[in-house]
Amino acid sequence: MSDNSNLRVAVVGGGPGGYAAAFLAADLGMKVTLIDPELNPGGVCLYRGCIPSKALLHVAKLVEESHQAKNWGVDFSDPKIDLGKLRGWKESVVKRLTGGLGQLSKQRSVQLVQGTAAFDNSTTLRVTKAAGGEEAMTFDRIILATGSRPAVVPSLKIASSRLMDSTGALDLPDVPKSLLVIGGGYIGLELGSVYAALGTKVTVVEMLTGLLPGADRDLVLPLHKRLEKSLDMILLNTTVKSLKEEGNGIRATFEGASVKEKERVFDRVLVSVGRKPNSEIRGLEKTKVKVGPKGFIQVNKQLQTDDPSIYAIGDVVGEPMLAHKASHEGRTAVEAIAGKKVAFEPHAIPAVVFTDPEIAWAGLTETQAKEQGREIAVAKFPWAASGRAITLDRPEGLTKLILDPKTERVLGVGIVGAGAGELIAEGVLAIEMAALAGDLELTIHPHPTLSETVMEAAEVFFGTSTDIYRPKRG
Ligand SMILES: Cc1cc2nc3c(=O)[nH]c(=O)nc-3n(C[C@H](O)[C@H](O)[C@H](O)COP(=O)(O)OP(=O)(O)OC[C@H]3O[C@@H](n4cnc5c(N)ncnc54)[C@H](O)[C@@H]3O)c2cc1C
Repeated sequence: MSDNSNLRVAVVGGGPGGYAAAFLAADLGMKVTLIDPELNPGGVCLYRGCIPSKALLHVAKLVEESHQAKNWGVDFSDPKIDLGKLRGWKESVVKRLTGGLGQLSKQRSVQLVQGTAAFDNSTTLRVTKAAGGEEAMTFDRIILATGSRPAVVPSLKIASSRLMDSTGALDLPDVPKSLLVIGGGYIGLELGSVYAALGTKVTVVEMLTGLLPGADRDLVLPLHKRLEKSLDMILLNTTVKSLKEEGNGIRATFEGASVKEKERVFDRVLVSVGRKPNSEIRGLEKTKVKVGPKGFIQVNKQLQTDDPSIYAIGDVVGEPMLAHKASHEGRTAVEAIAGKKVAFEPHAIPAVVFTDPEIAWAGLTETQAKEQGREIAVAKFPWAASGRAITLDRPEGLTKLILDPKTERVLGVGIVGAGAGELIAEGVLAIEMAALAGDLELTIHPHPTLSETVMEAAEVFFGTSTDIYRPKRG
């Protein structure tokens, strides 16, 4: 690797892409400036995304389990929610993590500049500082990690304090009696689950035929069934046509073949219909950077834009818009800047939906294989046959492997069930290491754990699962 000690690198945006890039650049000896509107790094993920939502989902899970405990002979009284304390705890989690990142920046001598960056030209940024004033700064390389923001549906944009996006919902303004969640993607379902656990009657509306488009249907089914119990209503094939503020709430009108009630009034409405990349960076037209039709900045496999001195990473360059994809891209971009022969070409980027049960998948899905007309073998291990799942009273889970029928290579893994988000990491490693079904079958997994379901799914593929009896053919 070449000597980087004189290379001046700016990172615009302090999210998981930006700070991972800035820290690695500093570790490799570059002079690094990280520009973000917040005092400390963290971006959407830490301030208003992954971290606060998971803190609240942890509490939601506890509340749900306290209800379920009745079945096990432990009867808790209904939980009393101290919203101020809950909000305070969530904020303390965010503060602790973002403060830690500020500390790590100092230790690495990363210069943190609190402000917003615009381009004067390909190597000069004009930073409007949070404390006031502007400063022009020149760099050898600039990494754009400006992330994304909630998408807005113009026809549903009304002036009402009852209307929230994900950021507003995470602020926990109150526990409304009723909440309409527009969009059955992972953000809507996660936040809807939090409010449902706190006592809100939640209705989820999705315009497509099923929740979580993109995930295999057999993985979504156990979640759908559980949500049917914890949520007030799930309306599929339904579109919200209009929202109107009234004295006592927001009136929503619905359209769709199966709609029974054409309109209803809700205390609050959460719009979670996707995210838009923050590629409208001031002065970007003064560079050679190109933005594609969907608003994503165009990059090559080294994350370099059409302007040789500018790289871009994370949500602003494309799907999947996930924190771990952003950080890996950030590290690849920095290694490319350092002159290493690298490319961002993972076999698997895991996706996790942190609902209860969780859904996680990585690599090829069954749906994608069908769309591509690709021949696959699918091996499924139902958690009803898992000792650990039964001890947890969560037998509804499923672990499945998507395999190449000829080579027996693991192409994809999908899991639904408690803790699926942790379990999927083994699947990602298997896919990246080109593991075969036999490797998973022969790897001794600890008992009794849910991780055994990965091994047993491989046994199912060979027709020799210990815990599932399959009568001999013929
Ligand atoms: C409710 C919610 C839950 C989520 N949960 C998960 C999850 O569980 N797991 C997961 O992987 N992902 C999750 N995500 C997605 C995740 O937050 C994003 O994929 C991730 O934050 C993207 O990282 P990034 O570095 O690209 O940008 P971001 O985190 O979006 O950060 C971009 C930063 O750039 C700053 N910025 C923008 N323009 C400028 C400018 N001109 N000058 C200076 N700074 C600028 C922004 O203010 C922001 O701080 C969630 C998102 C939401 C909203």
